[in-house]
This record gives sequence, structure tokens and C-alpha cells, in this order.
Amino acid sequence: MNKVLFEVDLCKGCGLCATACPKGIIALDTGTLNSKGYHPAQLTDAEKCIACASCAVMCPDAVITVIKE
Ligand code: SF4
Ligand code: SF4
Repeated sequence: MNKVLFEVDLCKGCGLCATACPKGIIALDTGTLNSKGYHPAQLTDAEKCIACASCAVMCPDAVITVIKE
């Protein structure tokens, strides 16, 4: 399965990655705060990821790494 890794504590919860994802499988985790006090982005359905890397390209803080299987 493709993997999308988040450096959770670097995320500022801007949501740009969620907007960029063509599969709509990234959302902010409203139940969690990272060390900066933001709700971090997370993957909601890993099986649907096509490893396009749009999320990683969009993120202004280089939080996301996409690993294509
Ligand atoms: S790699 Fe593409 S499909 Fe996978 S989470 Fe990122 S934007 Fe969505
Ligand atoms: S674009 Fe980057 S900083 Fe913004 S929510 Fe997504 S992972 Fe976090």
C-alpha cells in the first residue's frame, strides 16, 4: 500500500493538503493538538491513496512524505 507520512509536529493545520488531494482522503484531526497547538493533518483512508504527491507538493512546511509502493 502507498504510504503518506506526516511530521505531525511541523503541521500548522492550514488544510492546504486536504484541498489538494484528488481523493479527498486528508482531513485535520480535530481530536488532537500537536506540539504547536494545531490540529494536524492526517490520512483518513490510506487504501484510496494513488501516491500522486499533490499533498506533499502543496504543503508549505514540507510536512508530508509520500512513498509509492
Ligand atoms: S498522495 Fe495524492 S492521493 Fe495520496 S493523500 Fe496525497 S494528494 Fe491524496
Ligand atoms: S498543508 Fe502541511 S501544514 Fe498545512 S495542514 Fe497539510 S500537512 Fe499541515
